[in-house]
Amino acid sequence: MQGVILVVEDEQAIAELVRAYLKRDGFGVVWASSGEQALDEMTRNPVKLVVLDIGLPGIDGFEVCRRLRARTGVPILILSARDDEVERVAGLEAGADDYVTKPFSPRELVARVKAILRRTGGASELLTDGVLSLADVQLDRAARSVSVGGAPCELTSREFELLAAFLAHPGVVLSRDRLLELVWGGPFAGGTRTVDVHVAQLRAKLGRPDLIRTVRGAGYKALAS
Ligand code: CA
Repeated sequence: MQGVILVVEDEQAIAELVRAYLKRDGFGVVWASSGEQALDEMTRNPVKLVVLDIGLPGIDGFEVCRRLRARTGVPILILSARDDEVERVAGLEAGADDYVTKPFSPRELVARVKAILRRTGGASELLTDGVLSLADVQLDRAARSVSVGGAPCELTSREFELLAAFLAHPGVVLSRDRLLELVWGGPFAGGTRTVDVHVAQLRAKLGRPDLIRTVRGAGYKALAS
């Protein structure tokens, strides 16, 4: 089992097709037929990647993408009925990792899913409004607060998001490019050096130098210690 993929698609025939191909490659599949159901499933199942249709009943795929992105680093592959540049850009701006247009080849879809997972590290994510913690560091998303050993720690919003990214991926090497995607929403004018500067500031404020390790030539990794 390679982990669970959440397929968000209101057309059952398409969902079944995607499910069959993902299962053949060893993935588990959870199917949601609406955006609301997708968010709900993400609170119950640790998910490696979301395949997300745009045209959905209720909240649309873009809104699901934004809501997921605000709360998790789970990779998102958008499926859209329209090969429309504006829609493609909107999908990527909403935080999607890739974009496939219908009609699509299920084999290509699975290949893209695997490529994204190779690039992003393939950790499973569970949606939580609550508290992320590692060692004695706690981050409360709802309250926007951080504590270290029970004492409050003041972080800028960028440092807060950076810490959330590390706490959501314990033990996973996050490359500087991946951190730029997760925290800055894409390649940033300041480049990967910006990541190093913010990691250094975050380490200094946390006073837990071992929590976020440097992995030579690869990026950073959060470890409980
Ligand atoms: Ca649809």
